[in-house]
Amino acid sequence: EAKLAGKGRYMVFDVTMRQRVQNRLNLENDLRDAVDSDQLFLMYQPIVSLETGQLDSVEALIRWKHPVRGLISPGDFIPIAEETGLIVPIGQWVLDQACSQFAIWQNTLGASAPRSVSINLSRKQLVLEDLPEIIRRTLNQAGMAPECLHLEVTESAIMKDAAAATRLLGAIKEIGVKLAIDDFGTGYSSLACLHQFPLDILKIDRSFVANIDRGRDFAAMVHAVAQLARNLNIQVVAEGIETAEQALVLQTFECEFGQGYYFCRPVMPDQLQLFSFRPTLTGQQAA
Ligand code: C2E
Ligand code: MG
Ligand code: MG
Ligand code: MG
Repeated sequence: EAKLAGKGRYMVFDVTMRQRVQNRLNLENDLRDAVDSDQLFLMYQPIVSLETGQLDSVEALIRWKHPVRGLISPGDFIPIAEETGLIVPIGQWVLDQACSQFAIWQNTLGASAPRSVSINLSRKQLVLEDLPEIIRRTLNQAGMAPECLHLEVTESAIMKDAAAATRLLGAIKEIGVKLAIDDFGTGYSSLACLHQFPLDILKIDRSFVANIDRGRDFAAMVHAVAQLARNLNIQVVAEGIETAEQALVLQTFECEFGQGYYFCRPVMPDQLQLFSFRPTLTGQQAA
């Protein structure tokens, strides 16, 4: 009796395992088609000046519209793309797409176009020797000034193979493109990153921002990071701002830029012109 039940459990376990593996294999195969069949698209999230509340730039965030499963977020398919090597064509597509979209905004929105566009780079892209050349070519094709392209990399991605990343990021910087460190504070080598890499922008991870109005420790850390960055001539973006209170605290810390649902969720490219955040210095604009 007990044996049977045990056996039954194992069978259930087997089936779920098999399903999970099958699921994963299906997803891998589907991802192979996704690039060619137009299932990937980019949404863009505004990055605003915390002082004026105005749009400064945008971050491109990839989405996958799966024909059967519907919308899949990058957290669920970028790891698969990295493991299968599909991140290379996907990363190239993102770069192309973001740069041509930037050119479109410049033509259609004029003075209210974003000043720059950021894309996220995978750690797997940080070992591609021809990446600088590809970036140079893409900028040329889009007729885009290099400083209008910002590349976001995480601490853990660059520390994985710091020597290779230093070389590659150095070569990319020579083009004139700006480098941002993403999710700052979540890795193990945050301070090392700051002096080892030619950074222009530091994005404070949203886990710090989420707690900024709750604990004095978080507030103190964010304040210190903002000051440190300013002394190093690095611009600061606070990620994941969800409330007026958080925006206000960050403003008092003289954090220059912010990004988060409080200001705007990621939007489709043609919705960007609808973005208008009316700033006040009192943080009462939520109504
Ligand atoms: P990330 O680069 O740190 O991007 C910020 C993420 O936080 C986005 O999630 C964004 O939608 C979300 N977010 C923005 N504001 C808020 C907020 O106020 N509250 C909360 N809870 N979340 C907020 P998303 O789009 O799901 O992207 C997740 C991650 O996937 C990104 O984190 C980035 O690491 C990666 N990713 C996205 N697009 C690409 C891409 O084109 N290439 C690569 N390699 N990675 C990408
Ligand atoms: Mg990012
Ligand atoms: Mg981030
Ligand atoms: Mg992240």
